Amino acid sequence: MTTFRQLGEREVIRRLARLVPDRADVRVGIGDDVAVVGHAGAYDLLLTSDAVIENTHFLPDAPPESIGHKAIGRVLSDFAAMGGEPLWALVDLVAPAETPVEWAESVYRGAARLAARFHLAIVGGDTTGGPVRELHVFGVGRLPAGEAVLRSGARPGDVLYVTGALGGSLAGRHLDFEPRVAEGAWLREGRWATAMMDISDGLLVDLERMLERSRAGAELQSQRVPVAPDALAAKDGRSPLEHALGDGEDYELLFAVPAARVADFEAAWKARFKLPCSSVGTITAEPGRLVLRDRTGRVLTPGRAGYEHFA
Ligand SMILES: [Mg+2]
Repeated sequence: MTTFRQLGEREVIRRLARLVPDRADVRVGIGDDVAVVGHAGAYDLLLTSDAVIENTHFLPDAPPESIGHKAIGRVLSDFAAMGGEPLWALVDLVAPAETPVEWAESVYRGAARLAARFHLAIVGGDTTGGPVRELHVFGVGRLPAGEAVLRSGARPGDVLYVTGALGGSLAGRHLDFEPRVAEGAWLREGRWATAMMDISDGLLVDLERMLERSRAGAELQSQRVPVAPDALAAKDGRSPLEHALGDGEDYELLFAVPAARVADFEAAWKARFKLPCSSVGTITAEPGRLVLRDRTGRVLTPGRAGYEHFA
């Protein structure tokens, strides 16, 4: 017998993905931020689901509105990662029978507030009893057929960018982050990004996933990684850079732009968004080789990679 802990999330997914049926209209199945299916004429549909679980993704005393915000925000962030438009969501609520209804109402108020801002309708779901509180969100979005920005499109020479700043989100940002839906759609519409994903498990771990799908490598420059104030404030013996590289739950976008378009891209971004966008490195040719250098060119070995589920 092999446990989830022994295998790790990536290998568990690989093993389970071998068991699922396919169809001719599935454009992108398991392995990207969302599934892309071709079934709506001029549009592809985007399908994604996500769970937030008590004591794993939120503590029992977390503000209930922020739990709803987080559950919807994670799904919106995955749509953003494809450049997609959110449409509909189903929400499953699992809770012990003693749970106050007022708690659930507050969760739904937080979910509804964020969903409404992005024109995401909540159209159904399920409520059921269970040992801990859980919120599961299944979302449907769309984008013009064939235009999803996948993880697989990065090419050697492309410049890597991240939005916002990274690290230390457990101090609070993981409960009230802003999904980058407008930014993702803009990147797709301008055809700026060759590959894109959201950073949910930490820059290093998520970049590895992009490199795997793109069959490429990357070089990161440590001094260019945007470090969030929460990461600078953390006092736990790990450096701000380690937090920025590995903490996860940032829900920022990571994407690649062809080198020839970098100057135009940076000017267009600054004209359109106040949100900072930082170039952090470049895509290289050797598949899977991820190198991190400091400003003197020395290769750094990060102490701890990103968040690994089941570890
Ligand atoms: Mg994602």
